[in-house]
Amino acid sequence: MGVKMKKRCTAVVLAAGGGSRMNSTVAKQFMMLGDKPLLWYSLQAVERSEIIDDCILVTGKDSISYVKNAIVDQFGFHKVDRIVPGGRERWESVANAMAALGSSGRMMPNRDGYVFIHDGARPFLNEEILRRTYEAVQEYHACVAAMPSKDTIKLADEGGMAVSTPDRRFVWSVQTPQVFDTELIVKAYGALREKAEREGFEAVTVTDDAGVVEAFINCPVKLVEGSYENIKITTPEDMKIAEVFRERLL
Ligand code: C5P
Repeated sequence: MGVKMKKRCTAVVLAAGGGSRMNSTVAKQFMMLGDKPLLWYSLQAVERSEIIDDCILVTGKDSISYVKNAIVDQFGFHKVDRIVPGGRERWESVANAMAALGSSGRMMPNRDGYVFIHDGARPFLNEEILRRTYEAVQEYHACVAAMPSKDTIKLADEGGMAVSTPDRRFVWSVQTPQVFDTELIVKAYGALREKAEREGFEAVTVTDDAGVVEAFINCPVKLVEGSYENIKITTPEDMKIAEVFRERLL
């Protein structure tokens, strides 16, 4: 039996958000967690990973040179071979990265590979999560890190009245990485961009990559065990929790 060639794995790390819920003048991905900027942690996991081959980093147009000098070059993140400008919403930032992937020679080595889309605001990505999603994507073509919801979730109407309560056994909190066959996710985001052009930017309400696949591609998405520590930093109290998790890593 011949040795199976490992397919190319590209990480897309998202760091183009404004972070308005953080009440901070510094964008949250650049806030300090211990002695490193928040974005350092997920880039470090990517850099060290045996699975990830290269990385597209997405950040605000005005932050590109700062990110290149003060983060990528400063810390020697050699897998980052492209920094692309983000968009107004998360989906547009991902769409820009997908366009970069699909439009150039870059697509050639990766066409047959996988894309790992990850929020730069989730510092506690680790090799185990990358490994589990990598194994699942080879079988299912589309998978996302997720954890069973600890809270009961209610669907509400616009007036804030509870409408229904999904059975908690089937409710999951979705995280990143969200991992896909390259061609599948490039195609899904291409279709989403067309919808936005046709129906207007506001017509797009999708908030994660699996949602784009669910809407445009006939491929079920597998939920893979993430981690309760794989939190997204959104509000100031998340930063306090992150400090505790970080200290445990030391
Ligand atoms: O805003 P939220 O915390 O949900 O953002 C999730 C991730 O998406 C963050 O890492 C953020 O930097 C990124 N993002 C982006 N472009 C946007 C909005 C969010 O890259 N326009």
